[in-house]
Amino acid sequence: MFSTTQLHSDSMTDLILIRHLNKCYQTAAGSLLVLRELTLTVQSGEFVAIMGSSGSGKSTLLNILGCLDTQSSGDYLLDGQSVVALDHNQRAQLRNRTIGFVFQGFQLLPRLNLIDNVGLPLVYAAVPRTERRQRAKELLARMGLTQQENRLPSHISGGQQQRVAVARALVNQPRLILADEPTGNLDSRTSHEVMALFQELNQAGITILLVTHEPEMAHYASRVICLRDGVVVS
Ligand code: ADP
Ligand code: MG
Repeated sequence: MFSTTQLHSDSMTDLILIRHLNKCYQTAAGSLLVLRELTLTVQSGEFVAIMGSSGSGKSTLLNILGCLDTQSSGDYLLDGQSVVALDHNQRAQLRNRTIGFVFQGFQLLPRLNLIDNVGLPLVYAAVPRTERRQRAKELLARMGLTQQENRLPSHISGGQQQRVAVARALVNQPRLILADEPTGNLDSRTSHEVMALFQELNQAGITILLVTHEPEMAHYASRVICLRDGVVVS
């Protein structure tokens, strides 16, 4: 389903490199250390699952990896670039160019049809409307959603909504997909379909980092990392 043109040749480089990463939140009750001295490398082409109980810092880590938040200390190199060294705009550019996000709650815009939802990241990349629509329609076709492409998100099923969200994540042709509990709102059968889709994308050369607390879903990954109290335990 996904063409080999999406394959990335430098398949053995470190796409993510994290060293001694700490993240501390300031709260009314004082400071809360959520990630401690975290060290992690993910090579281009890997499919990694991050597991851990609620509150173990999984989303915090994913937000930092996705350049949506910054660490309190430590190093993070994404594709060889130090993310802290970049200013706000450079970070946004690196993010748009490199990363696609998928969330538990799909996060589609309710008033936009599926084509416009999928094409939305291209608005920020200043891609003209005709091309946005064309690329969105192609991805929706690959997801088997051509029939539904003019519908609103509320008029399709949860599994279909998550496929739309995956299409949106792919529209910028990212090298990396970050998914935070993407099957958390789906029934078991649909969850397995979405995981099979991630596996297929991985086989087409896209690096995948997926957070889940379901061992069944982590099985789809080629490597599983467990977080406990902000530390990698295995
Ligand atoms: P997980 O995704 O593994 O459930 P999170 O990364 O969301 O865990 O949260 C880890 C800890 O950090 C939790 O104790 C949570 O309450 C706290 N936390 C998360 N975000 C913030 C924030 N913006 N400010 C303060 N505390 C936060
Ligand atoms: Mg979370």
